[in-house]
Amino acid sequence: MIQISDLHKKFGELHVLKGINEHITQGEVVVIIGPSGSGKSTLLRCLNLLEHPTSGEIVFEGITITDQRNDINKLREKMGMVFQQFNLFPHKTVLENITLAPINVKNIKKDEAEKIAFKLLDRIGLRDKANSYPNQLSGGQKQRIAIARALAMSPDVMLFDEPTSALDPEMVGEVLDVMKELAGDGMTMVVVTHEMGFAKEVGTRVLFMDEGKVVEKGSPEEIFCNPKNPRTKDFLAKVL
Ligand code: ADP
Ligand code: MG
Repeated sequence: MIQISDLHKKFGELHVLKGINEHITQGEVVVIIGPSGSGKSTLLRCLNLLEHPTSGEIVFEGITITDQRNDINKLREKMGMVFQQFNLFPHKTVLENITLAPINVKNIKKDEAEKIAFKLLDRIGLRDKANSYPNQLSGGQKQRIAIARALAMSPDVMLFDEPTSALDPEMVGEVLDVMKELAGDGMTMVVVTHEMGFAKEVGTRVLFMDEGKVVEKGSPEEIFCNPKNPRTKDFLAKVL
């Protein structure tokens, strides 16, 4: 589904991604772990071209998206992204947040978009919040709405950048539960997280990044029970 070849990203002199090569197949839940500043967010942002790679190639569903001639907006419709800071529109209701892109970008009729939105709200257990504004919601509820908003575009892959890092501890579980359900439904997911429990339980593959490279990868068991690279061992010793 996504083929990443020799991907590099520089910010001026700072060489942040130093040759990433990965193949993500349909239905996989790829968990990316690694120390702060290792390039995890930059990699996710390159995948949907929020950052333009300095060199290398990304092919998504057969289309070379790093080729500037291709339509970035079409690509973004197919990749949902969820950030640490929920990024909901504060002056729009929950329902409007979820229906805005389907109506304006996909030209779906308002009542059809609302039908889809209510289905998603049912799925995350927040139908009763349809007419609330983001500042009337808890952090966990905001993040579940942000996930529903991304799903409203029927993406083929969901990218998550530390979706639970800004939450109070008691709200982490409800967001992870929504993500687990999504994974169970077969969604292709790329998840940057420090939630090692989630990585072990839901991840089909774990990538450990350090200093702009994937230095070790494998199944959750391989990475967590039998890490080989000293830098992976060192990192896990600090977080587990
Ligand atoms: P991680 O998500 O693993 O913590 P990031 O991808 O956010 O790491 O950042 C990797 C490095 O790139 C850091 O040194 C960070 O300061 C730098 N960086 C990220 N985004 C930018 C940017 N837009 N401009 C300049 N430097 C950046
Ligand atoms: Mg980050």
